[in-house]
Amino acid sequence: MERITRTCMTIPGRIIEEQKNYYIIDTAGGPVRASTKGLLKKDKVRVCVGDMVDCEVINEDSRDGIIFGIHERKSFFKRPSLANLTQMILVATFREPPIDLESLDRLLLCAGAYELSTVIVFNKSDLTCADSTSKRRIIDALLAIGYPVLETSARTGDNLEALLAACAGHVSAFAGLSGVGKSALLSLIFPNRKFVLGKVSGSNGRGTHTTTHVALLPLPAGGYIADTPGVSLVDLPLVPEEDVVTYFPELERLIGGCKFNNCIHDNEPGCKVRELVEAGKIAVWRYEHYRKIYREMLDRRREYK
Ligand code: GDP
Ligand code: ZN
Repeated sequence: MERITRTCMTIPGRIIEEQKNYYIIDTAGGPVRASTKGLLKKDKVRVCVGDMVDCEVINEDSRDGIIFGIHERKSFFKRPSLANLTQMILVATFREPPIDLESLDRLLLCAGAYELSTVIVFNKSDLTCADSTSKRRIIDALLAIGYPVLETSARTGDNLEALLAACAGHVSAFAGLSGVGKSALLSLIFPNRKFVLGKVSGSNGRGTHTTTHVALLPLPAGGYIADTPGVSLVDLPLVPEEDVVTYFPELERLIGGCKFNNCIHDNEPGCKVRELVEAGKIAVWRYEHYRKIYREMLDRRREYK
């Protein structure tokens, strides 16, 4: 039977890895190793992992090909460069390290600002938590706001199936403080890849990642997970201060309920938000983080001017 060595068919695919002079593209017919020869110079510079492209396989045996076009990007994440991310898996722990609700709220705001879906993963469920009441209260508060929450253990594999189900069909990346088990979870999901465990980096404890190259690892049920043990979220995106409330859905639901329609829910009389915080219906920590981030965004905007 005659072997086809050249096709003139353009096939769509997603760039999942960058190599020297080539990109690996995941297509319905398998991976293709393609150069950007078919692109204009400005598009060559722009192309990055996560991009949807059109390519042509020029050699069926070696699966070498050429990229001819980039599809319009839905999103772009800077550090590391990742296009078309759709979901952020926010990993936190109640023990080792202890829960840091402020960084969780900042991550939630960041994911919201990038218009990404979120799943909150409390890892290390195998470790008993000294204060199980406050743990329950935190999880219940997050669930009531509408965030999906999973408790996992990279040690025992607890709830790994549920985590994988939440990632199906999405392009996800892990985020969270150092030491919460992002690399351990990645190693469990992709046992054939090497991830550095126990690495603590960054003087601010949020971790800085020197890795510039990121790859997307395909999942059996469809979708991908970025191989980076945490995207860098050191800098919050600049959000107009009046929009901060939109990233606190439980507060935003009350817009219109306050006495003043330009209420910023700080200390104004007749503030419905404050009333509900005092009545225990809105978590105090959420409210405090809202106020803190509001002020921060206000200051940043003034500095920017
Ligand atoms: P990362 O900085 O978020 O990537 O965290 P690592 O994956 O490097 O994990 C930090 C430490 O926590 C390592 O010593 C892991 O072995 C440990 N670890 C990770 N996941 C779990 C878990 O589910 N349970 C327990 N007990 N330890 C874990
Ligand atoms: Zn108010």
